[in-house]
Amino acid sequence: MEYDVIIIGAGPAGTIAAAELLKQKLNVLIIEKESFPRFVIGESLLPRCMDILDETGFLPAIEKQNYQKKYGALFIRGEEECSFSFDQQFTEGWSWTWQVPRGSFDKVLADEVETMGANIMYETAVTDIKFSPNLQQVSVKDKLGNVKEIEAKFIIDSSGYGRVIPKLLNLDLPSSLDTRNSLFSHVVEKNRPGGEVGERITIIDKDKGVWIWIIPFSNDKTSIGVVAEESFFDKYEGNSEEILRSILSEEKFINDRFNDIEFSFEPKYVKGYSIGVKKLFGEGFVLTGNSTEFLDPIFSSGVTFAIESGYQAAKLVVKHINGEVVDWENSYSKYISQGVETFRSYVNAWYNNTLQTIFFVENENIKIKKQICSVLAGYVWDKKNPYVRNHKNAITTLSRFIKDGK
Ligand code: FAD
Repeated sequence: MEYDVIIIGAGPAGTIAAAELLKQKLNVLIIEKESFPRFVIGESLLPRCMDILDETGFLPAIEKQNYQKKYGALFIRGEEECSFSFDQQFTEGWSWTWQVPRGSFDKVLADEVETMGANIMYETAVTDIKFSPNLQQVSVKDKLGNVKEIEAKFIIDSSGYGRVIPKLLNLDLPSSLDTRNSLFSHVVEKNRPGGEVGERITIIDKDKGVWIWIIPFSNDKTSIGVVAEESFFDKYEGNSEEILRSILSEEKFINDRFNDIEFSFEPKYVKGYSIGVKKLFGEGFVLTGNSTEFLDPIFSSGVTFAIESGYQAAKLVVKHINGEVVDWENSYSKYISQGVETFRSYVNAWYNNTLQTIFFVENENIKIKKQICSVLAGYVWDKKNPYVRNHKNAITTLSRFIKDGK
């Protein structure tokens, strides 16, 4: 059987793309290497992705899960605090989103897209693809080692860290960002504070280039992780749990809260995750989500980009299959790059401490804070926002003004 579209990977990029294709009555097969639920890191969403989850019909199924709602983000440096509320934004949009255990969240999306009509082939990996203008031949291998070929008019690569097509076609590029690692786990907190303090996502700016995330879930677990250059972790002794406990114990703000925690699994390292890509599309394929470029977790933009790119790619694939000429460069690459480049400026500004000068200023300018808040909410395509439009210079100029008064 020949499919209209084969999607590689049933993560958020793949399932959102599938939903949009199914709306247009295309015949879709998702090929997924793992069985679901499977663990993946990346649990804090951004308001922008709510627009697309709504548009593609996933919200009712997600709402039933009672995930922890996320209304903003709290940044902490020593005794200083900076709190962003998504109801205080420049761009009109969602004022909240969710903090989700991804195993559960991704399964909800995958189950929902199956009820919409997608066929998902689990525990089957894409191992090779032969590309041609109108027909792509995809080689797959299931967990028993059975191999077969499946054909489709078009391939959407949503394989995340698997990076199937970038690897096959040698499209990977080193990231422009410094190499960083992360050590993380899920914990049961015995001392989680009640109310908003215990529920909100908190980012602790520990040292230059070193930060900690705390992402509470509604299932009584909390995701905790540290991001730093590799040499930072070398300073600690012990196994990964002992290292993570030591790092947490050094922080005043969280020490009491996390001195009595139970780890749900041995903390995992993920190393050098930032990566770039030479191009986002080619004959018979388009890349979405983490199989494109992954910047950095500091602003929780990964799932939102996965959802945005899956959605935008699918709309163009529909046109392509219907025989329209698609300008992939302008309609897709440039669009995605607008968002990625905006976030890149903020990620760079975080790691060179420019952003902290703005976040932890004594007298906040409310108008500017709302504009920056919309960037952090993922509304990075709203060029009416000067902190999107001039992302490269706006933060540097503001930080210089705060420091030197000019
Ligand atoms: P994935 O969710 O990775 O899904 C890809 C799927 O493809 C997988 O299920 C995989 O099994 C499948 N696959 C792979 N290879 C094959 C193959 N050969 N054949 C078939 N299937 C295959 N993002 C956020 O939004 N918020 C956060 O708070 C956040 N924190 C992060 C913290 C860290 C330390 C890191 C490294 C990342 C973080 N991210 C975060 C990013 C987030 O993990 C990713 O951006 C997101 O999961 C990308 O979704 P995706 O759909 O592109 O890929």
